[in-house]
Amino acid sequence: MQINVAQLLKEPVGAKRNYDIDELAGENGQNRLKGRVELIRTSRGILAAGKFTTDIKGSCSRCLGEANKQISFIMEEEFLPVIDITSGIHLHPPPEEFTIADNHILDLREAIRQYIIMAIPTRLLCRPDCPGICPVCGQGLASGNCGHVSQPCDDRWNKLVQSEKENKI
Ligand SMILES: [Zn+2]
Ligand SMILES: [Zn+2]
Repeated sequence: MQINVAQLLKEPVGAKRNYDIDELAGENGQNRLKGRVELIRTSRGILAAGKFTTDIKGSCSRCLGEANKQISFIMEEEFLPVIDITSGIHLHPPPEEFTIADNHILDLREAIRQYIIMAIPTRLLCRPDCPGICPVCGQGLASGNCGHVSQPCDDRWNKLVQSEKENKI
């Protein structure tokens, strides 16, 4: 995800390069990222446009078991050079912009990390219909029924189970 763009920067606006990406990315590099990015020379710098897929690992928000989810996202960011490739003059792009380092390496990692964070769902589930945990013994009901919920002993218990279900929606 670190691409030398010295050549592309010397080309006219609209010039393009395509790169296949298959690397570890994200927070602490724990996400296997696959996709394809197109680098396009713009008047100010280089536009990086790509579509990526990665697997998110986390805990299920209902039963706290392991949850995996594949997410896809589209990235589109313009990277501005900090040095003019032909004159060698130092440029001063605004600090909020992504930049191309003075060795002409365009580093996609920070942008990708931010896109992955934005694409992570706030609630991960181990499976779409995860039944959660038993309110009595705490066992994850996805891995088997402990016998508490399916055999409620009286009506008050039924109501408790019912309101528990409603609270989860
Ligand atoms: Zn679960
Ligand atoms: Zn139980």
